[in-house]
Amino acid sequence: MRFDTVIIGGGLAGMACGIRLAQAGQRCAIVSQGQSAIHFSSGSFDLLGRLPGGEAVSDPVAGMAALAECCPSHPYAVIGAENCARYAQEAPGLLREAGIRVAGDCRRNHFRITPMGKAKATWLSIDGYLTTPQVGEFPFKSVCIVNIEGFLDFYPEFIAEELRKYNIECRFGSFNHPDLEQIRRNPSEMRSANIARVFDHDANLEALAEALRQQATGCDALILPALIGINRNDSLEYLRERVGLPIYLLPTLPPSIPGIRAQQALQHRFRALGGEYFLGDSVLSSEIEQGRVARIFTANHGNIPFEARRFVLATGSFFSKGLVATFDRIVEPVFGADTVSRPSRSEWYTLHFFDRHEYQAFGVRTDNRLRVVKEGAVLENLYAVGAGLAGFHPVQEGCGAGVSLLSALHVAEQILKD
Ligand SMILES: Cc1cc2nc3c(=O)[nH]c(=O)nc-3n(C[C@H](O)[C@H](O)[C@H](O)COP(=O)(O)OP(=O)(O)OC[C@H]3O[C@@H](n4cnc5c(N)ncnc54)[C@H](O)[C@@H]3O)c2cc1C
Repeated sequence: MRFDTVIIGGGLAGMACGIRLAQAGQRCAIVSQGQSAIHFSSGSFDLLGRLPGGEAVSDPVAGMAALAECCPSHPYAVIGAENCARYAQEAPGLLREAGIRVAGDCRRNHFRITPMGKAKATWLSIDGYLTTPQVGEFPFKSVCIVNIEGFLDFYPEFIAEELRKYNIECRFGSFNHPDLEQIRRNPSEMRSANIARVFDHDANLEALAEALRQQATGCDALILPALIGINRNDSLEYLRERVGLPIYLLPTLPPSIPGIRAQQALQHRFRALGGEYFLGDSVLSSEIEQGRVARIFTANHGNIPFEARRFVLATGSFFSKGLVATFDRIVEPVFGADTVSRPSRSEWYTLHFFDRHEYQAFGVRTDNRLRVVKEGAVLENLYAVGAGLAGFHPVQEGCGAGVSLLSALHVAEQILKD
């Protein structure tokens, strides 16, 4: 099989790169073995929340420019501050064109509310999520937090404890329905995706609307776990209209319904643009000839190679097995690319869970065009994007989705220029 570009990994970075290339008319394939980090997403996309030294960032574009000074190996510094600013303006359009309704501004972070009720700086949030322009500036004075009976991955008490710090009056409500009984019999089935399917039925959504209407009496707004709309996009509008009050969603523990929807939307968009998506297939090996990747081989296609002029490594970090830690080194398993890490395992992490752990910044070694380095030499037609890049701390710096989107757009632009 021959393509212009083959992308390995279909998470946020691989999809964004593939969409951009397919939009420009390239014959493009994505091979992806399974779920990606976006299936576990909060419903928000972070660009830059903190600098490496811990200083809070309110204007991510200015923050990215500062990174070039203090942290030259950060992907934003490698991509360049001006390019980053340009891609940060473009990325929301790419998401919206795929049907992911996001709001936010790369010049001003807003705050999303975590499953524990804490405020966290972010860039773009999917429509319907509870966000605030500043910490504590909530759009209501009293709220009813409603959970589904028996659902253990949502914590109304913790959320209320946080909201009460800002003098928000909180009440609790709950919802039950005979169609939930089936999945409630087994606690491990009482998960977000199974519950969300129950609310895809009109009658069940209507029953929820009725229960919310009764429980919300006297409140300004309602908060629900993000358990609606896995296969339809009118659920929240429907509930808001029927209840007659603002309703806000909060993320639950994974799997994430907005994340699953976002992944499906990106996949659909890529295919609609003519891209070929090989889901459930893993790239196992490659052949390199004269400093270029000539072909790759996958589990499902055996000895039938994927050939292309360009390849993009978008296999993610440890979470997606794009990087693997052995006892004493960090391995990139598809190409055996060089990796950036620390020599001694004791330097990889600290004993305090919430610390900044060095392993989080480990990744694939690249040149300043994000081309992958193997055995000290650049592979001319292999680029790396996304969570597998070295030099950034996605959790502490709040930049996970931003690095994935901006590096994907940067690499797509270079491939198209070439
Ligand atoms: C659990 C979790 C939750 C997160 N939530 C957020 C959030 O809410 N907001 C935010 O801004 N950031 C979040 N992040 C940060 C996250 O890293 C980025 O947001 C981004 O989604 C990463 O996308 P990616 O495409 O680079 O990698 P991934 O999403 O990890 O995708 C890599 C893909 O490559 C595939 N793959 C791996 N190896 C192979 C192979 N050999 N052959 C074929 N396919 C392969 C994997 O199956 C996977 O689909 C989260 C990260 C994690 C781990």
